Amino acid sequence: MGKVTGFMEFDRALPADRIPVERLNDWQEIHTEMLEEDIRTQGARCMDCGVPFCHAGDSASAPQVGGCPVNNLIPEWNDLIYKGRWREALDRLHQTNNFPEFTGRVCPAPCEDSCVLGINAPPVTIKHHENSIIEKGFAEGWVQPNPPAERTGKKVAVIGSGPAGLAAAAQLNSAGHSVTVYERDDRLGGLLMYGIPNMKLEKPIVERRLQLMREEGIEFVTNTEVGKDISAEELQKQFDSVLLATGSTVPRDLPIEGRELKGVHFAMDYLGSNTKSLLDSEHQDGNYISAKGKKVVVIGGGDTGTDCVGTALRQGCESVIQLEIMPKPPLERAADNPWPEFKRTLKVDYGQAEAIAVQGEDPRQYLQLTQKLTGENGQVKKLHLTGIEWKKDDQGRMGPQPVAGSEREIEADLVLLAMGFLGPEGGLLEQFGADKDARSNAKADYGNYRTSVDGLYAAGDCRRGQSLIVWAINEGREAAREIDRDLMGSTQLP
Ligand code: FAD
Repeated sequence: MGKVTGFMEFDRALPADRIPVERLNDWQEIHTEMLEEDIRTQGARCMDCGVPFCHAGDSASAPQVGGCPVNNLIPEWNDLIYKGRWREALDRLHQTNNFPEFTGRVCPAPCEDSCVLGINAPPVTIKHHENSIIEKGFAEGWVQPNPPAERTGKKVAVIGSGPAGLAAAAQLNSAGHSVTVYERDDRLGGLLMYGIPNMKLEKPIVERRLQLMREEGIEFVTNTEVGKDISAEELQKQFDSVLLATGSTVPRDLPIEGRELKGVHFAMDYLGSNTKSLLDSEHQDGNYISAKGKKVVVIGGGDTGTDCVGTALRQGCESVIQLEIMPKPPLERAADNPWPEFKRTLKVDYGQAEAIAVQGEDPRQYLQLTQKLTGENGQVKKLHLTGIEWKKDDQGRMGPQPVAGSEREIEADLVLLAMGFLGPEGGLLEQFGADKDARSNAKADYGNYRTSVDGLYAAGDCRRGQSLIVWAINEGREAAREIDRDLMGSTQLP
């Protein structure tokens, strides 16, 4: 701990995001830089407390405790930042996280919610430190390909190139196995590429890491859907082990009257086509769903919904509303959500901040249920809503109950369904003959990752259900460890 009194001397400070009216004119990241000197001062705010909850996330042993799921060595690198020892900070960071440039940009930072300083003061700016360390590492040329000294002769196939598949591939490759990653999309990265929009995570950042992985010897095969273009059986014959990292890709639908109208889309079709068209032709090909001049209603108040809001505003929508079925979160932690748990409080994310700047109010409307959609000439025109309250039914289960007299209509030309995901698509697990769990995810225990089929493993959203990048990285790394153990009889992987 470099500066014992740092947490008392310095206030929390972060670089300001670019202002909404400016950033809405482009698709570049919204963040700005901070002077190195100022980042070092922020490093001094870390108390190096005896029990650093920030680094302690572990869903298996302590599901209620927040903290970093990849167990980043946060107090150590906070201190190294303060002392200006960036290279050592980078080494510590890479020990636990293969892709700090992704989590440093878009992780919701459970570490900060469990920072001990956060009990009675604003927490340490951990997420910004993570990003600053890795970007300094790239800028200085310290991040170089690090291929294994020897190959084991074992071959592993990874299905899916999202953060879980990529983390597993990186770890398995470092242990000397020959790794091939299969991806059905034309570009690699999973939701890092075609889910999270450019303004949150610019795609050259993803490409930069992929290039390093190629140089380390990992083989990538795109435009290839396992189960269709290559069978499960073929893959099992060609490889010693196979990892499923196919994500949670089945969107929750809205089976109500009017769902079939034109102008009603799943969020992922909207976001994915927008990014692909941006990357392919800077939107010149027109191969995307456009919100230009439209009244947009996003159904769903999570990250995906917020990304739809930010995208619609950049496309030049006339207006945007975001509907949420749950109540408005409290401004402060509730009694049933104590520190160091992940904080469930109202957050104004970038999309809402942009909508407030343009429309003068938060686009989110809470406790709203869409009862039906109506249109003209097959095109959606209106949502018919009712207000709800959450009440227990006869069997004691909480559920939404319509509030009498709260029915209303709102206009819409584009309705985006962002209500979460139900699990991996059907077919592939069946082809492998692998069991599913009660939620239709691949059945494999956390920390173990072995499916019911010998030599077949599962990690990330296809196993745990829709989650976060940091959990996908955690599972990919740990699954790699178990695969290595089974292939070699023991493992050195963390
Ligand atoms: P994915 O990233 O979904 O990758 C799975 C890959 O497998 C895909 O590329 C898919 O094409 C491929 N695939 C599937 N089936 C096959 C097959 N048969 N053959 C070959 N390839 C196949 N998390 C955060 O931490 N912060 C955020 O800000 C955030 N924002 C998000 C925004 C959106 C719009 C969405 C949808 C999610 C967001 N998340 C965010 C969640 C996060 O992106 C996911 O939890 C994470 O990407 C899951 O990683 P994964 O590797 O398990 O799966």
